[in-house]
Amino acid sequence: MAKRDYYEVLGVARNASEAELKKAYRKLAMKHHPDRNPDDKKSEEQFKEAKEAYEVLTDAQKRAAYDQFGHAGVDPGLGGGGGGARSGNFGDIFEDVFGDIFGGRGAGRGSRVNRGSDLRYDLELSLEEAVQGKTIQIDIPTHVPCKPCDGSGARKGSSDTTCSTCGGHGQVRMQQGFFSIQQTCPKCHGKGRVITDPCPECRGQGVVKQTKKLSVKIPAGVDEGDRIRLAGEGEAGLQGGIAGDLYVQISVRAHPLFKREANHLYCELPISFASAALGGEIDVPTLHGRVKLKIPAETQTDKLFRLKGKGVRSVHEQGVGDLFCKVVIETPINLTARQKELFAELEKSLQEGPAKHSPRSRSWFDGVKKFFEDMKF
Ligand SMILES: [Zn+2]
Ligand SMILES: [Zn+2]
Repeated sequence: MAKRDYYEVLGVARNASEAELKKAYRKLAMKHHPDRNPDDKKSEEQFKEAKEAYEVLTDAQKRAAYDQFGHAGVDPGLGGGGGGARSGNFGDIFEDVFGDIFGGRGAGRGSRVNRGSDLRYDLELSLEEAVQGKTIQIDIPTHVPCKPCDGSGARKGSSDTTCSTCGGHGQVRMQQGFFSIQQTCPKCHGKGRVITDPCPECRGQGVVKQTKKLSVKIPAGVDEGDRIRLAGEGEAGLQGGIAGDLYVQISVRAHPLFKREANHLYCELPISFASAALGGEIDVPTLHGRVKLKIPAETQTDKLFRLKGKGVRSVHEQGVGDLFCKVVIETPINLTARQKELFAELEKSLQEGPAKHSPRSRSWFDGVKKFFEDMKF
């Protein structure tokens, strides 16, 4: 399959700056990231394609080669100038672009063999908390490295020794009739070393159970489905293995007034007949307090007012969304006899005279008329 042009893949101009490339890539990566699109082959392809384009175009040398020779300039198979795009797993570059929202690469000492488990913590926030960000304290039942033995499992002052059963190989040979079978050493479970003098505190496990208190900073602007990774805050590894990661999975409760879509907020604004007809100023709620909104005279129902910058500041990109208020004109209820009389009088007055008072029903009637004409009834 022919490769698409890298600039086209990212949707940027050929002279795009590094910041523009980064922005475009972030947007695509958010959309097509495999975490968000599990088992979606097409998204995975698009993600890889964007990643490759981003890697090449942000490397000055490769970009120059690509600009001059096209894909041949950077494709390792064709022996061009700049060499191939870096390979690697999804994580690497995604994380240098996204920084702390997805956490850094798992850091820590020790081996991967006994790596601790990852933990997931489900956190439900109100819309206000998600928008403003917050530092939360969470209690996590977990295993932590045992202090007296420093996580090794061997009593303080002693150390593990080579397994006498397998001589440190981790495998043993068993003779069974004519056959010789190799199997994992039952004494050291394949590690080749054993603890002869186990730490009494953790009974040689190197970890103890503990409720860990953790302070987690939730950045402002997070949304439903976002996940914050805290590298190394998961379960401690066994016998000196590195710790797993903790994932804080965000969900946001429904709000009685506002609906959020990406960085914009939406709300309904009920106003009276009279305010709609005569205009006026009303108080509109926003997440940052009340603001005054001027309603022009002759406002129709469903009119959308846009309050710039009163939406949500995104955690993923720059800029703030807007607040959209949709006018809903309320029909008054529980009318007294006098009020009914006034309405009747008003209606009569609106029907009389040459002025046109009903823009919507006029265009509606015109539409109905045209509909019947087109149908040739
Ligand atoms: Zn052994
Ligand atoms: Zn211990």
